[in-house]
Order: sequence, then structure tokens, then C-alpha cells
Amino acid sequence: MKISDLFVSEERTFSFEFFPPKDEISAVDFGINVGQLMRLSPSFVTVTYGAGGSTQDRTFNLVDYLQNKIGLTTVAHYTCVNATREKVERDLQYLGSVNIENLMLLRGDPPTGDTKFIPPSDGFRYASELISYVDENFDFCKAGACYIEKHPESFSIDEDIANLKIKVSSGLDFLITQLFFDNKHYFNFVKKVRKAGITCRIIPGIIPITSYKQIERFTKMSGTKIPAELLDNLESYKDNAIKTYQAGIDYTIRQCKELLAGGAPGIHFYTLNKSRAAVEIFESL
Ligand SMILES: Cc1cc2nc3c(=O)[nH]c(=O)nc-3n(C[C@H](O)[C@H](O)[C@H](O)COP(=O)(O)OP(=O)(O)OC[C@H]3O[C@@H](n4cnc5c(N)ncnc54)[C@H](O)[C@@H]3O)c2cc1C
Repeated sequence: MKISDLFVSEERTFSFEFFPPKDEISAVDFGINVGQLMRLSPSFVTVTYGAGGSTQDRTFNLVDYLQNKIGLTTVAHYTCVNATREKVERDLQYLGSVNIENLMLLRGDPPTGDTKFIPPSDGFRYASELISYVDENFDFCKAGACYIEKHPESFSIDEDIANLKIKVSSGLDFLITQLFFDNKHYFNFVKKVRKAGITCRIIPGIIPITSYKQIERFTKMSGTKIPAELLDNLESYKDNAIKTYQAGIDYTIRQCKELLAGGAPGIHFYTLNKSRAAVEIFESL
């Protein structure tokens, strides 16, 4: 099913992001976690496409499995990295042939150490160019990414929103945000984006902090800021893993409740292929 069709009947969607397990042991672990998460009947699930296209085969195998064997509405992430028009045509024809109807279309990051994204000749410079191409040549429901605290390469949020407008009008059906911890950034962003004339759904992407070690990793990885209240709380439990976990989960539950009460059209959960935190949070919503 196309997620755009799901929007007609579902005012809010609840969805999970996975990444392809890297070996057989992680695959067993993944199966157990997906089993737990299926109890929550997610609206859809998404599967990432490793940096530089490194997981292409595993991403394609996993979306095929989740869509066709498990019966979940599955979104395949796909990036412009190394994507010539000929390759895109081949890859998307394959995804269509295994009943994938939904794509998350992204530019991807420059390789580690590079500051600038360089597309292959006959490739795409921005996600918007890939989206236009897919819109003209295929019949997928198309999602894209947005950054409520601005994309790291943009000078300002206004510049980023102007580029987002081009991206959405290239044929996007909905947006999912980069992870964030402070809802005020989400609400301010939605206001600005609506003022700019972008009307599609903007689904908040949420991740729970379940250990102190994660904080540094998340902020470094995404540039997102951690609110002082959460940081102080976690710092005070630094040496107690159970209390840190509980404080992180409690914060995420409050964060999700406030987002939904403020009109967010659902929650997209970055599961990191784990189920325990997601089950606790979703059951309490
Ligand atoms: C929900 C989500 C899922 C993701 N999944 C993956 C994944 O599976 N695999 C992966 O490798 N990465 C993934 N990423 C990361 C993403 O690939 C990077 O953040 C990448 O740097 C930007 O991708 P984008 O599609 O947002 O790019 P774009 O929309 O192309 O934007 C990139 C930069 O270019 C600017 N820009 C855009 N259009 C123009 C224009 N016309 N003129 C000038 N500047 C412009 C933007 O403002 C921005 O600064 C994901 C991110 C999110 C939020």
C-alpha cells in the first residue's frame, strides 16, 4: 500500500526505522526485535541505505522480506550516492518488482573526510533532482528528509527551507525529520515551513536516549542539541544504567505526548533495531 493512501484514513501514523543487520547473529537479534515491534501494528516501517550505498543488497533483501514475508508496509531508503540514471532505473525497477511502493529519497552524505557531495556524471546533485526523476519515470509514494535545526551544510534555516520547498514540489508526498530532543524546534519549524507554502505531513523522527554514552554520539552525528533539563537529569544518573535508561524513556514519552497534543501527524521512531524502548514508549502513548 502507498503511504499517501494510508494518510486518507489515518490521521496519525506510527512507524519504525531499521537498518540492515550486518551479520547472522545480528539478524537473529533483529528477528526477535521485529517480532516484538509487530505487536504494536506499525503503520509502516523503513529500512536505511548504508552510507555510500554500502548496504544496498542487504537493504533490498530486507525490504523484500519485511514487505512480502512479514506483510509490513515497507519504505526503502535510497540515495544519490553513485546513482547514475541507468542505475536508478535498474534499482527502482527491481524494488517495484518486489512490491515496494514507497521510497525515502535522499541525497546521502559526502564520503568521510570530504566536505562536498560530488555526484557521478549523469547523477543527481540534490535529493530534489532524484525525486523529480523518480516522479517523472515511476509510480512510487515518495518521502524525503528535513532538518528542523537546519541541515549542517546550510547557512541558515531560511535557506534550508527554500531548498526544502523545491524538494517537496519535485514530487514528495511527505517528510520525516532528523532526530531531535527539543520540541520547540519542531513546532517553530512547522510554522515556518507552512508559511513558506509547504503543506505535506512532517512526521517527527524520535529516538530515545537509553544510555549516557549515546548522548555524545547523537549530538556529534546529527548536530542536534540536547535540552539542559534532559542533560542535567542524565548527568545526575551517569553511573546508574537503570536510572539513566528510565530517565531517557520517561523524557521520550513526555516528548511524544507533547508532539501529538500539539498536532504532529504521528511519530517515526529510530529503533536502532531494538524493541524494548519502543514497546515501552508506544504502549504508554
Ligand atoms: C529521515 C532521514 C533518513 C535518512 N536516511 C538515510 C539513509 O538511509 N542513508 C543515508 O546515507 N543517509 C540517510 N540520511 C542522511 C542524509 O542522506 C543526509 O543528511 C544528507 O546530508 C542530506 O540528504 P537530503 O536528502 O536531506 O539532501 P538534500 O535535500 O539534497 O539537501 C542537502 C543539502 O543541500 C541543500 N540543497 C538542497 N537543494 C538545493 C538546491 N537546489 N540548491 C542549493 N542547495 C540545495 C540543502 O539545503 C542541504 O543543505 C537520512 C536523513 C534523514 C533525516
